[in-house]
Amino acid sequence: PYSGPSADEILQKRKEYLSPSMFYFYKKPLNVVDGKMQYLFDDSGRRYLDAFGGIATVCCGHCHPDVVEAIVKQMNRIQHSTILYLNHAIAEFAEALASKLPGDLKVVFFTNSGTEANELAMMIARLYTGCHDIISLRNAYHGNAAGTMGATAQCNWKFNVVQSGVHHALNPDPYRGAFGSNGEMYAKDVQELIDFGTSGSVAGFISEAIQGVGGIIELAPGYLSAAYSSIKKAGGICIADEVQAGFARTGSHFWGFEAHGVVPDIVTMAKGIGNGIPLGAVVTTPEIAEVLTRRCYFNTFGGNPVCTSAGLAVLQVIERERLQENAHVVGSYLKERLIALKDKYEIIGDVRGRGLMLGVELVTDRQLKTPAKVEIMHVMEQMKDMGVLVGKGGFYGNVFRITPPLCFTKEDADFLVDVMDVTMSKI
Ligand code: PMP
Repeated sequence: PYSGPSADEILQKRKEYLSPSMFYFYKKPLNVVDGKMQYLFDDSGRRYLDAFGGIATVCCGHCHPDVVEAIVKQMNRIQHSTILYLNHAIAEFAEALASKLPGDLKVVFFTNSGTEANELAMMIARLYTGCHDIISLRNAYHGNAAGTMGATAQCNWKFNVVQSGVHHALNPDPYRGAFGSNGEMYAKDVQELIDFGTSGSVAGFISEAIQGVGGIIELAPGYLSAAYSSIKKAGGICIADEVQAGFARTGSHFWGFEAHGVVPDIVTMAKGIGNGIPLGAVVTTPEIAEVLTRRCYFNTFGGNPVCTSAGLAVLQVIERERLQENAHVVGSYLKERLIALKDKYEIIGDVRGRGLMLGVELVTDRQLKTPAKVEIMHVMEQMKDMGVLVGKGGFYGNVFRITPPLCFTKEDADFLVDVMDVTMSKI
């Protein structure tokens, strides 16, 4: 049993010593003290089904024994910087990771986070092309450091500091976008931004395949290939941000971009890559990677032996436990059940996503698509009280984000939907 400080004591310390910008879910925030696979346990020992842990990094399941063992083993042996000396863990994980990517994408730069990975990817694109302009999508989230905040395109995540050289294209959002599911129509905006907003040459384009923070928005079919082709014609580099959609989460594919039939020039990743360990990566081609030899470049802890040992264990678990297949089977089942719930409740405006990256958008008026901001808070709170944790996001904060660890079962899916059903019936 847990014998540490109470939630109130922690909250007090947090108020006094931690950034006032930190936020938490729920009126009374949960004091989470243990995790096991798809479950979290609070300080009273109460169990919660964690349908949002995936976004917070966990893909294999909380404290997956194989990943824990790999970390402890390496920690006991040697933990050091990634630079200066050789270590097998780093090289082996880089090789294993490269084998998961298509084409010539086989040079790996390790970082500690998704933000760092995208910062590096954008810099590489600028160095390689000699251009500065980058195109990203409205409603995107790519990080919160100087460069990536520029690419992020939701005012709630953008501070008023210089963010130069990023143009934000129309979001190919099948639910709220002007052109519905016609990806090619939205892609014309990318060409227009190049033609009317730049010299005609660009450094690149960055996008998620399914926007996570943005509210689980799957890019309209046909969009990415048309946008990539405009970017390539303008001499740019195409960057796929797989921080959320990567690592088997979408079920049908290992990477989100694969569902769109494109091959990026650079792929960035984080979160699921280390099952909770701080790790990120940029993977590109040998030719593009060459630009970083123009100066000294390093990252002290990016890809250190402990984190890369975890990374290798994660890839092995995904393979051994067939987590991609599970994401596909359980995710499809869960989506079907959520769609059935939409037939029952007017408040559900849209159910979308792929594999175990699903979104449920709540609206008070299906025609006007008015965001149900208050109602979603209520449902979320009630679901927590009944033992189910889901995430929330989207520009209006009215979309449930369901991104559980990939070991989620059909029984878990049933429990989640049943609990959502009960809470919605009481609105
Ligand atoms: N890209 C995407 C798609 C993300 O969702 C996030 C984090 N929410 C990031 C980048 C930034 O990752 P990190 O928080 O690890 O810096």
